[in-house]
Amino acid sequence: MIYLDNNATTQVAPEVFAAMEPYLKDFYGNPSSAHALGRRMRSAVEGAREQVAELLGASDASEIVFTSCGSESDNWAIGGFLEQNPNKRHLITTRVEHEAVRGLCDHLAEIGCEVTWLEVDQNGELDLDDLRRALRRDTGLVSVMMANNETGVLFPIEEIGRLVRENSDAVFHVDGVQAVGKIPISLRESAVDLLAVSGHKFHAPKGVGALYIRRGVNLPPFIIGGGQERGRRSGTEAVPNIVGLGRACQLAHQFTEHQQIRTLRDRLEDEILAQFPNARLNGVADRARRLPNTSNISFEGLDGGDILAMLDDKAICVSTGSACNAESQEVSAVLRAMRVPYQVARGSIRFSLSRYNTRAEIDQTLAMLTKVIEQVTISAQGSVMKTS
Ligand code: PLP
Repeated sequence: MIYLDNNATTQVAPEVFAAMEPYLKDFYGNPSSAHALGRRMRSAVEGAREQVAELLGASDASEIVFTSCGSESDNWAIGGFLEQNPNKRHLITTRVEHEAVRGLCDHLAEIGCEVTWLEVDQNGELDLDDLRRALRRDTGLVSVMMANNETGVLFPIEEIGRLVRENSDAVFHVDGVQAVGKIPISLRESAVDLLAVSGHKFHAPKGVGALYIRRGVNLPPFIIGGGQERGRRSGTEAVPNIVGLGRACQLAHQFTEHQQIRTLRDRLEDEILAQFPNARLNGVADRARRLPNTSNISFEGLDGGDILAMLDDKAICVSTGSACNAESQEVSAVLRAMRVPYQVARGSIRFSLSRYNTRAEIDQTLAMLTKVIEQVTISAQGSVMKTS
């Protein structure tokens, strides 16, 4: 199998699995227990917290709270802020956020919040003047993703944070789910108040995430109960997963082969754009403004679902747009927001790489793709002839 769907989820790193294994077998205590086994568990959780804080460049490990996933972190950050500040009901976000933010903001708009949606251009980028104009003294929260899950387009978080600070008293929430582990992050000196992390996007297991909460920012607890996570998120800690997240952060921090992923992605992208006259890149062409692992390419006039299915037959895993809407026939909301024409958007395929991909896999994918596009084109022409 060739796995090129790493923005959907990633393989658990062998080192992560090895770190977790003792906590699934021998070390099964509860971190809140006072005995030696409990204390060992507590120390594993706190060690992992340090590892997450280190990767994010947080000032202090106490700014990290463990959650179950990126969606929970996003929902807690935004929902919790509003619960704490019921009078600050003006929010700003973008049209291209993941559903965990977009869906929640839609819901908040239905129940009486005022949401300003920032548009993106055809490259998937924001106009920061739109943000400047949208910011008001009564804006409560601004939520902007660091990297787009479908196109890999990076938003200029430092500049956005500066604008938020200069023009409002708003809290700045960042969905960091696709960026953490893929690009360097340093929150200490930044204007980011809240940042969502998801373990399974960078080689930790599913079922664990984190929320960075800058010291001094108050959120009400997400789960009320036994008072774990300093009373901020109750429930007995998922120690094996937390240990896995910590180790994945440590690996990402030590990882030096980002250039290798970038080189493979560039090769895949260059070859596809050169070989197929109907191939169009979705997202800004300047690769410095995209994640190093992502290429979203449309095959104009073809159906992305057909291409995906044929690649799948050849054991190559990719996505059409976001994995989260694989069931839906609708064109991706992100591509719609970028005003990608329907005939182009419909044929979009997202390739997302990881440190485990090899040059041989990329070459094999390119060879397979030549056959697949030929076949899909022939069958698309056949169905046009039948209907005309
Ligand atoms: N935010 C972004 C940008 C994502 O890509 C995803 C998942 O695809 C999420 C949030 C949700 O993360 P999780 O799957 O951990 O809930």
